[in-house]
Amino acid sequence: MMKFTLPEQVNTALKLLLENGFEAYAVGGCVRDLVMGKMPNDYDITTNAMPEETEKVFEGFRIIETGIKHGTVTVIADGMPLEITTYRIDGEYLDSRHPETVSFSRNLKDDLSRRDFTVNTLCYNEKEGVIDLFGGIEDIDRKIIRCVGEPDKRFNEDALRILRGIRFACSLGFTVEEETAQSILRNKDLIKNIAAERVRDEFVKLITADRIYDNVSRFREVIEVFIPEYGALTGCEQNTPYHCYDVFEHSVRSAEYIENDRNLRLTMFLHDIAKPLCKTTDEFGTDHFKGHAKAGAEMAEDILRRMKFDNNAIKYVPFLIGLHSERFPVSKTEAKEMLRRIGREAYLDFIKVRRADTLAKKDPHSKDEKIKNMLAFYEAIEKNGECWNLESLAVNGSDIKELGVKSGPEIKRLLDFALGEVIHKRVPNDKQSILNLIEDLTE
Ligand code: ATP
Ligand code: MG
Repeated sequence: MMKFTLPEQVNTALKLLLENGFEAYAVGGCVRDLVMGKMPNDYDITTNAMPEETEKVFEGFRIIETGIKHGTVTVIADGMPLEITTYRIDGEYLDSRHPETVSFSRNLKDDLSRRDFTVNTLCYNEKEGVIDLFGGIEDIDRKIIRCVGEPDKRFNEDALRILRGIRFACSLGFTVEEETAQSILRNKDLIKNIAAERVRDEFVKLITADRIYDNVSRFREVIEVFIPEYGALTGCEQNTPYHCYDVFEHSVRSAEYIENDRNLRLTMFLHDIAKPLCKTTDEFGTDHFKGHAKAGAEMAEDILRRMKFDNNAIKYVPFLIGLHSERFPVSKTEAKEMLRRIGREAYLDFIKVRRADTLAKKDPHSKDEKIKNMLAFYEAIEKNGECWNLESLAVNGSDIKELGVKSGPEIKRLLDFALGEVIHKRVPNDKQSILNLIEDLTE
């Protein structure tokens, strides 16, 4: 019998339910993760106790009732929120999103058969070990995502499962089983019935997984349902000395090469989205993509807005995309100018973007030297505390006011001017020298 160590709070909750004569198991993703030797991010509990019965068992605990209509009682056990859900049978689905009704059951199998994939149907308690009614363990061993039951029916019930399936394949490093895969492709358009926010959240989980290329490539038509612009990347060849992939493969591979931060992944995934539109071929047969960074920034903004991303993503991702084809700073002075213009965060992210971009090209190391220098400039600037922004300039607004300058904009203009002079080493970053310079200017 497989044995796992559950967190104390989960054990306590299971014990309490069992002691009161109910069935209770940890269920779903947490058991899947335990079987795979991974640390679960949250624990769900399933029980044959009705919601009111659960509340009674946990009398004296803090209880949140938000999900009670669907049978979920959230119990705060020693600071840990635990979702305890009554065995459920989902009623008919009419909108590919929600069951019209849910009813409760006293039978575990009912509850497990409404779950999406076999690997998500496992349940566990200390007394009985792992319960596996749908071949979940075998599918974990074979690294396979497979629907519980008839795939077409399951995706029609809830089309979000289409994306969840691809997402689990990516995040677990699994392959979608053939019948489930065919059904995903057949039913992909049902995703249009799903709220943009839910699609967005699944998509983010999908593209922030460690390995995405194989599954995104196999299910590219699914991505095109909510990002139609992506379709043009497939088969958009790049006949240049630098590339070895079409724009689709280059984009998705480059996303895999950057750390799994949401904004950075989105940036790489979308950075060349305008290439098909900007492509020209010269008389020697070489392709050019003039203006694709700026045009791509605009397209990315449209896409992210449509997908209901937050302002942080809508602003920052297109900003990085707009930058991505800029030349590297080749001196400390240029580095300071760039820092001044785009800020520290974008400067460092630019380095990551360029590294990932290059890794997905013919010569993955062609930019190593430039990247190394760009980072070295920054490190030297930081280490020496060299000035590149107004905060580190030796004079501030009040110093300039004291010279008799009155208006706000004029003060700002003088500070900006002084900063430029300091960055270009025409004046040392020293209060008196800068004030002398400004005095000469305002006389
Ligand atoms: P994660 O690691 O992302 O938390 P998870 O498998 O725990 O993965 P959750 O979204 O937390 O996924 O859902 C918990 C469980 O509920 C799943 O394992 C699955 O059994 C079931 N489930 C969740 N969403 C669906 C759905 N749309 N259709 C059917 N079953 C679902
Ligand atoms: Mg979970």
